[in-house]
Amino acid sequence: RELPGDPETKNQRRQVHDAFYSFVAPTPTNSEPMTVLYSGDVARLIGLDPAECERQEFAAIFSGNAPLPNGPRPWAQCYGGHQFGMWAGQLGDGRAISLGEAVGPDGKTYELQLKGAGATPYSRMADGRAVLRSSLREFVASEAMYALGIPTTRALSLVGTGAKVLRDMFYNGDAKFEPGAVVCRVSPSFVRFGTFQLPAMRGGDQLPLIAPLADYIIRHHYPHLEGAGFSRNGYSDRMKLLSLSGAGREDRYVAFLGEVVSRTANLLASWQSVGFVHGVGNTDNFSILGETIDYGPYGFLERFDPNFTPNTTDLDGRRYTYRAQPGIGHWNCAQLANAFMTAGLLDLEKAQPIVDSYADIMMEAYTGRMARKMGLTKYDRELAVGLVTLMYEDKADFTNTFRALASVSDGDAPGSIPAPLEEALEDLSEERRSAWGKWLDGLRAAHRAEGRPEAARRADQDDVNPCYVPRNQLMQIAIARAEAGDYDELKALMKVLERPYEEQPGAERFKVTPPKEIRMGVELL
Ligand code: AMP
Ligand code: MG
Ligand code: MG
Repeated sequence: RELPGDPETKNQRRQVHDAFYSFVAPTPTNSEPMTVLYSGDVARLIGLDPAECERQEFAAIFSGNAPLPNGPRPWAQCYGGHQFGMWAGQLGDGRAISLGEAVGPDGKTYELQLKGAGATPYSRMADGRAVLRSSLREFVASEAMYALGIPTTRALSLVGTGAKVLRDMFYNGDAKFEPGAVVCRVSPSFVRFGTFQLPAMRGGDQLPLIAPLADYIIRHHYPHLEGAGFSRNGYSDRMKLLSLSGAGREDRYVAFLGEVVSRTANLLASWQSVGFVHGVGNTDNFSILGETIDYGPYGFLERFDPNFTPNTTDLDGRRYTYRAQPGIGHWNCAQLANAFMTAGLLDLEKAQPIVDSYADIMMEAYTGRMARKMGLTKYDRELAVGLVTLMYEDKADFTNTFRALASVSDGDAPGSIPAPLEEALEDLSEERRSAWGKWLDGLRAAHRAEGRPEAARRADQDDVNPCYVPRNQLMQIAIARAEAGDYDELKALMKVLERPYEEQPGAERFKVTPPKEIRMGVELL
């Protein structure tokens, strides 16, 4: 309520000007909702006793069937975005409705947002609903990413609405009814790059909206940037040098943009390090907090292919592939900077070096992670490129191969492949064995040159090389069973994903990579 809202309250699809949100109530379904999953961890985070999640009243509230007791008026946000590189105009929360904010025991404020609780003024041609399949994917991924240590929106609950949703998923050529579900997402803020972009792209009398939005985000989410003392925050020295000159209004926006760019660059580096491919890196899907947001057709790299995209609508454009997405993060930061400049928050002279800093920050974070994944404290480009080349040539599984690298030992015979790596690489030909043996000799030499004790080196590798990620086929099996009413496999998968860096007995089936014949991406020249 500190920002302008839409005075029109009719829930009708429309263009909304002069406002960042519209009041809109969830649309109840005529059926009995049922909580199918919840995260006790997230419940505690927002100060809710996890036992509450078992109550029928919880299912009613978190499906949108009943209002949040003593809650404010629910709202949907207005934002725009570049979709696949093209300005798409107003998008907004077409199927997300925020119920309110909760203050957690940590003193932080968390927004509770239902996804799939009905249409809003921003629903355009769609229905505002979500199906169980996509809701499960969002729930599993956000909790798995959190456990991997990657900034992300969280998921409190997944409630089956009991109603059917029509999806034109071509199934034997027919549209198909699927079970509907509502996920409650939790984050300190769901403001996106596109929230700043929309008034900037509209221009004219919409431009004055942007500074108050920036001020609002700084006040609530970057309070260390408000006054002079912003050097207390932990981001890179390079950015401090750029912006420590004073505490004036422009410097605040300079520092703000700098920190968003830095967080985004670090986020992309962490995606790369676990092989996460978002799949829809549009500017409306980039969080102003630098969190992973809007899990759609995401995927994790399995058999290594840098041209992999999980998004079937991006197979021609290949805009959001594994190898392209760090550059997309950069491009998106440039669009955010553009919005700031259009509003006069800063000028090009100030903005350009900040946007430029993305590449260095991303590469520093990325190479740091990749070095650790190989058991090194210093990045060795030749070794890293050698590794991904071998992985690509042998269609090696990204997660399993990296995890097995900790088994490499200084005492290995020259040219040898340690057993766990051998297993991860499956059946190598003699020729390929010798290629890997040669590369491993280089790695062993690098380990020896660094001279770290083997146990310490291995422990560090295990901290950055997960054993378990939400592999697509695992998700598909678990989701198919859940759709048939059996949640055991899904719960088993989620349990394993809660501690992704620890080997768990009996969890071998969660490491299975797809058959070699199935190419995840299409090879490009
Ligand atoms: P996405 O690319 O999934 O992040 O979505 C892009 C835009 O489409 C956002 O404004 C969404 O709110 C909207 N959208 C996606 N699915 C639906 C739906 N089922 N009903 C209404 N709006 C939707
Ligand atoms: Mg989105
Ligand atoms: Mg979406």
